[in-house]
Amino acid sequence: MKIWNLVIDQAEAKRLVRKMFILGRVPHALLVWGPPGSGRRALALALAQSFLCESPVEGLSCGKCSSCLSSASLEHPDLHLLWPAPTSLSPEEETSFRKALAEDPYTAPRPSGSLGISIDRVRALQRQVALHPYYGGGKVGIFLDAEYMRPEAANALLKTLEEPPEGTLLVLTAFRPERLLPTVRSRCQEVPLHPLPTDVVAGVLKERFHIPSEKALAIARASGGDMGKAYKLCEVGKEVGERALEFIEMALRAGNPLEALIWEKLEGYPSEEILEWVLLWLRDAFLLGLGVPERVAFSDERGTLVRLSEKVRPEALESFLQEAQRASDMLSKNMPARWVLWYVWWRLYGLFRG
Ligand SMILES: [Zn+2]
Repeated sequence: MKIWNLVIDQAEAKRLVRKMFILGRVPHALLVWGPPGSGRRALALALAQSFLCESPVEGLSCGKCSSCLSSASLEHPDLHLLWPAPTSLSPEEETSFRKALAEDPYTAPRPSGSLGISIDRVRALQRQVALHPYYGGGKVGIFLDAEYMRPEAANALLKTLEEPPEGTLLVLTAFRPERLLPTVRSRCQEVPLHPLPTDVVAGVLKERFHIPSEKALAIARASGGDMGKAYKLCEVGKEVGERALEFIEMALRAGNPLEALIWEKLEGYPSEEILEWVLLWLRDAFLLGLGVPERVAFSDERGTLVRLSEKVRPEALESFLQEAQRASDMLSKNMPARWVLWYVWWRLYGLFRG
């Protein structure tokens, strides 16, 4: 399988790297950066496959040779992969992440919280790339979400970036490249990715889930150009979405939030996802309030949303949405998700009684 076919859009980045391969000027280290769901992981894997391919076609992977096949399943012995993980990662967890990533780089789990890339794992990868290649071609080391590297790990990597072993390609991916050590970043050639355009995301959703264009477009808008998030909204989000809607309804109705049953109902659901859905629902209510129902993403739940939009003025909803977005951003700063959800609840409760 040709991993290039998995990379959605990003024509400019593809042109840039293709040129490097055709001219035989692939640098020792590349930094693929861009927002979540833009395809950093897909492109990193496609780069690795091309670099290791035994008979490249116009510089890119053929998708058919044994090297390409084992790259596609992430079982290539010369393809080494690091990603943010707990310090004690069991072999089962490792295999399950690799499998998810090989299956679909856009939907594989994403790092969160206090995960990191430790110096031990960086050193182990350095030892592996220093050995003679198994297949006789090159060697590739991929660092997913490289900004999660702990400082000592980044310093260790710097040595390899300064004196890379012959025939080695290092690919770093980052969502926030400014968090990388400047010395690491300056040694990589950068490949920037942009958020996927709404119509591109909608087109992919329509084909994959066989949903009407209007719905695909609305979900694509709600995803903000994040392909992984868009898939999730179509696939598994429904149940979490229901709970989030109940969360809003309870805030709308409850006499005393402290007595609200909602906390019991939310048990077992990830707070991050609940919060994400609360934002999506309120965004829909805001659009209804503005009088643009055709832009609403989840029209089947319109009853509650209509009531909500009648109760709260669009301007108040808009400023609440901005505030809730800021609260949601606190999650990435290691704030416990339950606290953030509590805060949102209180604000929501106040909003409905404002
Ligand atoms: Zn090949």
